[in-house]
Amino acid sequence: MRVGVLAFQGAFREHMEALGKLGAEAVPVRGKADMEGLSGVVIPGGESTVIGRFLVQTGLVDPIRDRIMAGELALMGTCAGAILACQRVTNDPPEGLLGVFPAEAERNHYGAQVDSFCQPVTLWDGRQIPGVFIRAPRLSPQEGASVLGVSSGQPVLMSWGRCLICSFHPELTQNQEVHRLFLDMASR
Ligand code: GLN
Repeated sequence: MRVGVLAFQGAFREHMEALGKLGAEAVPVRGKADMEGLSGVVIPGGESTVIGRFLVQTGLVDPIRDRIMAGELALMGTCAGAILACQRVTNDPPEGLLGVFPAEAERNHYGAQVDSFCQPVTLWDGRQIPGVFIRAPRLSPQEGASVLGVSSGQPVLMSWGRCLICSFHPELTQNQEVHRLFLDMASR
């Protein structure tokens, strides 16, 4: 299965490596031509204003949004990628917002870069996975979204249709659970 990782800025190499370890063909996406034959796309963490600007400049906003809304493309958005996926961003919304996921994002909710932290995420079935939170947004699910993981009582991992968003960085740990979930969605 071929999945794309937006490769403008942020932790795209780590996502490609994690997906590759699970047997997927992970390709970098930097323009429309790279979208060919993809079952899913990852928008990595990084800086949502930078990634969003690249999305606009390369004309990728509409093709990605349209294919997600048509159910043709699975999406995984981590941190900045989750912000770009949300229907609404309550503070300083970046350009290039895809606006597909029924959730609200509040950018930098947990503070600045120096306030970054690691904290376990409890999954829907009680299992715990490590959570790396770096200038993370607060994600508030709206109608239709399912919460799949919480940390300190806050929803941090959620799904809607074939889309998965999380406020932490699964690509920065050895735990493969979130990438496995995404590949499962992409294969459907
Ligand atoms: N705070 C960043 C933003 O708003 C996201 C940080 C991250 O992706 N780790 O874009």
